[in-house]
Amino acid sequence: MESSKLYVLPQLPYGYGDLAPYMSEEQLRIHHTIHHQAYVNGANAILKRLDNARKENADIDIKSALKELSWNIGGHLLHSLFWNNLAPPSKGGGKPGGRLADICDKEFGSFERFKKEFTQAAVSVEGSGWAALTVCKQTGRPVIMQIEKHNTNVYPTFPILMILDVFEHAYYIDYKNKRADFVEAFWKIVNWEEVNKRLEEL
Ligand code: MN
Repeated sequence: MESSKLYVLPQLPYGYGDLAPYMSEEQLRIHHTIHHQAYVNGANAILKRLDNARKENADIDIKSALKELSWNIGGHLLHSLFWNNLAPPSKGGGKPGGRLADICDKEFGSFERFKKEFTQAAVSVEGSGWAALTVCKQTGRPVIMQIEKHNTNVYPTFPILMILDVFEHAYYIDYKNKRADFVEAFWKIVNWEEVNKRLEEL
């Protein structure tokens, strides 16, 4: 059996120091090169383990391998989206325009209301997880998704327009245990252009 492609850590679309003062160089560097890299390595290790077992037609604990694979692939893919949802403060933050502004106004009543609900979703994730803005392709309605870990409470097949990492590793160096302060800072470096681009590409 030919062994297939593996996951690779993507480069960031900006420099490690470019999101300061809202995300420090040290915080971002460790998050990207240590934490994200660990999910890439973890996913690849399980894929190799599966490849080897298949080559030798050996038994493997499929249930535990798939659980671990879901955690690691989820971590890798969500971080890959997250980096592109951020932009240096000179370019990011403020209010969205375009179609995103229209669908948010229609669904939530106002940008302020959307921001409040998304903030509450992010701050209240139980343990480690993410808040994401998704959209249902059947109804066209934007829906906030509160993900526990990397893969619990997910609406299957809903594309993610915007995502915020609220694992402690995402903010502890800069904000210690103050997750709410980190979520507030996120609004200064959110890349609305990217969110609108994902919406247009659906
Ligand atoms: Mn993370």
